[in-house]
Parts: sequence; C-alpha cells; structure tokens
Amino acid sequence: MASAHCESCKFFDEHKGNGASAQGDAGLCRFNPPVSQPAPESKGLWPVVTANDWCGHFTAEMTAAE
Ligand code: SF4
Repeated sequence: MASAHCESCKFFDEHKGNGASAQGDAGLCRFNPPVSQPAPESKGLWPVVTANDWCGHFTAEMTAAE
C-alpha cells in the first residue's frame, strides 16, 4: 500500500504523548484503545508511530477538500 502513511491516516494523532515528542515525526495511533500498561497503577499507553509508518488498518483522513 504505497500511499498509506500514518501521517495521512485518520487514526494518527500528531499531538505528542507517550514520549513521542522525543522523535520529530512521531505521533500516536488511536485505532485501538490504550491497552499496554507497564504496571497496574500506570496509565495505559497509546502506540507511538512515526509519520512514515503504516499498517493494515490504514484509513485515509477525510477532509472538506476530498
Ligand atoms: S498504525 Fe495504522 S491505524 Fe495507526 S495511524 Fe498508522 S496507519 Fe493508521
């Protein structure tokens, strides 16, 4: 899927968190709920992905121009 990139996926959240701010083009994938927790009292973590990552759940972000 050559045109699939997280940065153009509707599940990509460019608002940084989970340490993603340390990587310039990183963001969070919001496709699934945050489920991985390092410890029971910890907050759940969203997967950190980069703008050029992609996966089989890619869905193009729809804008008013599309
Ligand atoms: S990992 Fe998949 S679902 Fe998540 S933002 Fe990237 S392409 Fe979208």
